[in-house]
Amino acid sequence: MNNVNHILNSSINSVLKTMSYIDFFSKKDLDDLKKIKFGLLRKNSVYRHGVTRFLPKNKWESEIPNSSCVKVVDIHPLLLEPEWKIYREIIIYHEFIHCLGYLGHNKEFYNIESLWPTIIQKKIQGQKFMQVLQQKNSTWRWICPKCDIQILRQRRSSGRYICKKCNCKLIDREI
Ligand SMILES: [Zn+2]
Ligand SMILES: [Zn+2]
Repeated sequence: MNNVNHILNSSINSVLKTMSYIDFFSKKDLDDLKKIKFGLLRKNSVYRHGVTRFLPKNKWESEIPNSSCVKVVDIHPLLLEPEWKIYREIIIYHEFIHCLGYLGHNKEFYNIESLWPTIIQKKIQGQKFMQVLQQKNSTWRWICPKCDIQILRQRRSSGRYICKKCNCKLIDREI
């Protein structure tokens, strides 16, 4: 756990430092973000890589959501591996924007997100990360009997899915 804390803390500090060079965030924003608590998502989470959990609305200190309304930010434990450094920082930055009160994924949110120096890598890194998670968490292989295409999934396909190439019904094989 100590090593996890170390990697997480140094990433948070690194994100805050980069944010201090972005001409959008105030000193107060950054000081508020320093107080945010972090935790980890379950390691079998595949589609969620980070989540900001807010306190129930009746416990908010202000009408307009801000960082004092945040209970915890959870990130995926696999993000702590060294090869995900760039994506890890993108995810922490993304959650920090939520923490500052930008709750929805709207134009304003994405404009702020786009200020991150490596944001161009978000999509490709996110897809790669998801593929790794899918592989790690899969118990089923969906196979096309005709063209040998394999898809890794946590659930059975149970005859509900067809191959995109040849329209054959996919077969389940346990891993
Ligand atoms: Zn988000
Ligand atoms: Zn096929």
